[in-house]
Amino acid sequence: MASEKQATFVIVGGGIAGVTCAEQIASQFPSDEVYLLTASPLVKTVTNFKQYPNLKVVQSAVKLLQAKEHLLQAENGQTFHYKKLCICSGARPKLLTQDNPHVLGIRDTDSAQEFQKRLSKAKRIVVIGNGGIALELVYEVEGCEVIWAIKDKAIGNTFFDAGAAQFLIPSLEADKKRQRARYTTDKTAGMNSPHTLVYTLTHSEHCCPLLAFLMKNECCCNKYVHYLLGKSLDTDNVYNSHSGASGELGSALGPDWHEGIELRGAVQNSSGVHIEYECEVDKIYTQQDFLESKLSTNKSELGVWPAYVELTNRKTYGCDLVISATGVVPNTDPFLSGNSFELAVDHGLRVDDHMRTSEQDVYAAGDVCTAGWEPSALWQQMRLWTQARQMGWYAARCMAADVLEEPIELDFCFELFSHITKFFNYKVVLLGKFNAQGLGQDHELLLRCTKGQEYVKVVLTGGRMVGAVLIGDTDLEETFENLILNQMDLSRYGEELLNPNIDIEDYFD
Ligand code: FAD
Repeated sequence: MASEKQATFVIVGGGIAGVTCAEQIASQFPSDEVYLLTASPLVKTVTNFKQYPNLKVVQSAVKLLQAKEHLLQAENGQTFHYKKLCICSGARPKLLTQDNPHVLGIRDTDSAQEFQKRLSKAKRIVVIGNGGIALELVYEVEGCEVIWAIKDKAIGNTFFDAGAAQFLIPSLEADKKRQRARYTTDKTAGMNSPHTLVYTLTHSEHCCPLLAFLMKNECCCNKYVHYLLGKSLDTDNVYNSHSGASGELGSALGPDWHEGIELRGAVQNSSGVHIEYECEVDKIYTQQDFLESKLSTNKSELGVWPAYVELTNRKTYGCDLVISATGVVPNTDPFLSGNSFELAVDHGLRVDDHMRTSEQDVYAAGDVCTAGWEPSALWQQMRLWTQARQMGWYAARCMAADVLEEPIELDFCFELFSHITKFFNYKVVLLGKFNAQGLGQDHELLLRCTKGQEYVKVVLTGGRMVGAVLIGDTDLEETFENLILNQMDLSRYGEELLNPNIDIEDYFD
């Protein structure tokens, strides 16, 4: 039934950005109506919302925004007149192809469950992409052959360099069950292992040959720490994310999305991963198309499969399923028509340092937006759960400051990039310019590596630490975070900075 609502604040999107924004603004303005419009149902958070009687959750997708009139139309027929609007509509997977039933993207609970169902009948899958989702998938899938096609020279290059990739590769080849069982013992072991090697690399040195050497050496300690990511992050607000009834996207899955989902294929003991480097997908064929195609490959040698993937390196693989994990595209569609939003090159809604879009009184936060301000020298935007939460919270504070006509400074969380995750069962911490992003030749790398245990990389410029990659249980993150933030001149310490026999935390206390 059509109806009109007046609200001081309207927030669109029931993901982490929208929910954080709505909670924050509702608590700050208890006597103002706040509406949260979402295409997908919220599950756990609804109970949290009961403490904000002024916050109304409407489960309906927005179909039209008239920004000049400060008006939103939802699919359920309701119209909302707002004073301030925050768009937190997330992003959707960039699918290789839209209408191929053998191609699947993973974004929300429904797509993860669909993947699990189809994987259970699969003998071979092809995974395309080199970001976080692909990295987690290839490691977690068991009982199914995985062909992993990446366009780069090394795995995981969104997150780390070729050296770290070399460090992680043996985990793909190892027996994962045994590996998981091992990761449960002594936290202190290994730090002072006689096999730990420390190197200084200049930007011009390629660390791969060095790491290849390290990997071949039997410098390994048998004790590991299993670090559970979920315990280290505030995941209280993680809730189930379903697609809406209308087929709209559900909220994005966050850290640990595969916990509790068994990713097992149809083969008893096979879990091999084969990587095809520096290639992309040229064409995906259905079985029928493949048989009729003029491909020069000996078709019968490839076997009979529901789908075939031809790569740009001219190799073709038959498979049951193709997983497209090639990134996301901001979900801006319903908001653009008739409005004049400034979009960034990645198609996100461009926001200034107050999270304001180019349309008056319209803010944006999370995966849908692109930071348009001059970033701190140690921060960059990545479409991650933590950043979506920080942006949602900060956008609410900016809306409040604008309403109250109070000044507000860019929040401290945008000072230093930091991300904690888990890849191949290792804790991974990324700080600042962890990949020397934007530094050109003007940097030096310090590296410490113990095979199967830890990989530590420090990025220095002018003797000051600007970034770090910490893989394994290094216990260095707090100290390094401080060293990066206080920009202390570390020139005189040289390689000693990574000397495993020095308790660095004590040293800089
Ligand atoms: P979303 O969570 O996508 O929420 C968008 C919301 O907007 C949804 O509720 C949707 O229904 C709603 N919506 C969309 N259109 C409309 C409309 N027209 N009207 C109303 N509502 C609408 N990040 C990490 O930091 N660590 C990880 O380990 C990690 N793993 C991930 C694994 C997977 C499989 C995926 C997909 C993502 C992962 N991410 C991870 C990224 C992280 O989940 C996202 O960056 C974050 O959740 C984005 O939050 P958001 O609120 O901006 O968007």
